Amino acid sequence: MALNEIGRSQVLGAVAEFDRVGREEFLRRYGFQAARTYLLAVKGRYYDSKAIVGAAHGLLPGRQALAASEFSGGQSHAVKLLSGLGFQVVYTSELSRSIGADELVQRVEKLRVAHAQGQKGAPLLYQPITLLWAVGRALRGESRTLPWAETDDALRGLLSRHGLRGEGPRPYYPVLALYHSGLWTLEGHTGVVPAASGGSELGRWCARQQPVSGLAGPAYELMRRDGRARLLVVDALVSRFFDGLDEIPLLKEVGLYDDTVADDAPDAPADALPRASRAVDPLALAAEYERQCILAEHREKSVRGLRREGTSRDPIRIAAARRAVLWRSGGRCENPGCGGQPDDVTDRGLPLLEVDHVEEIAGGGRDHPSQMIALCPNCHAVKTRGSRREELRKVFREVARKEHLRLLPEEGRARQPSSRVVIP
Ligand SMILES: [Zn+2]
Repeated sequence: MALNEIGRSQVLGAVAEFDRVGREEFLRRYGFQAARTYLLAVKGRYYDSKAIVGAAHGLLPGRQALAASEFSGGQSHAVKLLSGLGFQVVYTSELSRSIGADELVQRVEKLRVAHAQGQKGAPLLYQPITLLWAVGRALRGESRTLPWAETDDALRGLLSRHGLRGEGPRPYYPVLALYHSGLWTLEGHTGVVPAASGGSELGRWCARQQPVSGLAGPAYELMRRDGRARLLVVDALVSRFFDGLDEIPLLKEVGLYDDTVADDAPDAPADALPRASRAVDPLALAAEYERQCILAEHREKSVRGLRREGTSRDPIRIAAARRAVLWRSGGRCENPGCGGQPDDVTDRGLPLLEVDHVEEIAGGGRDHPSQMIALCPNCHAVKTRGSRREELRKVFREVARKEHLRLLPEEGRARQPSSRVVIP
């Protein structure tokens, strides 16, 4: 047996035979089961990786095809060999299952990126910018993959305009880094895909190989069809990577920014609220309310069990529930018996409102807009310290619930992300 002698030409020979005779016949001929875990990807088509290696062995001079039982290292050996020859091997599960929102968010949150000044500085934006661009393309239903020239051109422009931490026009770097983290696909190249470290040789590799590339299939599908997932992924990218930066020009350029709702405080998105004096389109308000509720619910889920520590590592998401309530209030105290809200505003022109948890979190209440209410300082004081506070709590419980359902009537049923949530 001479597995190590197998080269690309033998593999491609076996692939050609597979194409010629069809999968069923190919597997029967060489005595293999259908691959359960790994598939070889060649030019957008998929092949049973171990069977291909077995057949490729028979194309070596003076050698015979190998049966499944003859491989010393089994499946992992075949995968290693094919990857070593520069082929792309994918998990079958990656192709067939639909990746969930939570998993994709986690992968974005754990994405390994380079940092400014070694590991000491802020995270560099190469991969986040590339992912946001791809999410925008998925949202619009544009093709998942693009020829290298188009990818290079688009990313070069985005990186030069939005590389706020000094990122250079090096599209090859994020594309290769995302490829190695499983979030990006490359097709049509030959040889080993270089690791995403080093400099201009990566650019030369891409220029020579002209890979067709794009967001990995399952991630693309999720971003295309699931508004909630898209919102969470964009939020995760923005929260983690754009801290202290203005991401809005980038979001606008990649088509992930909705002007109709988030126009109020572009410099401080965490505090963006409707101004008391400004009429907000009711549909836009409902859409923004739903967005903030989705973020708040995700946050609620991810901190469950951590609550007692009393600390938050995630101020942007924890603000989401509060923002939702302020949006919902339209700048008015939500106490139906309010004796008069001060008509002054803050220095930033925002209404004087405080957001109250109707039920104490410590007593089992939720950090969720359906159990929160916007109150003017007077009503808030009465609710907190007044003698009628227990009575008020009952009233406010009902107000919070009703106001929540007013904007999200489908909440009466189980939440289905509505078609309104199109753009984060
Ligand atoms: Zn009031």
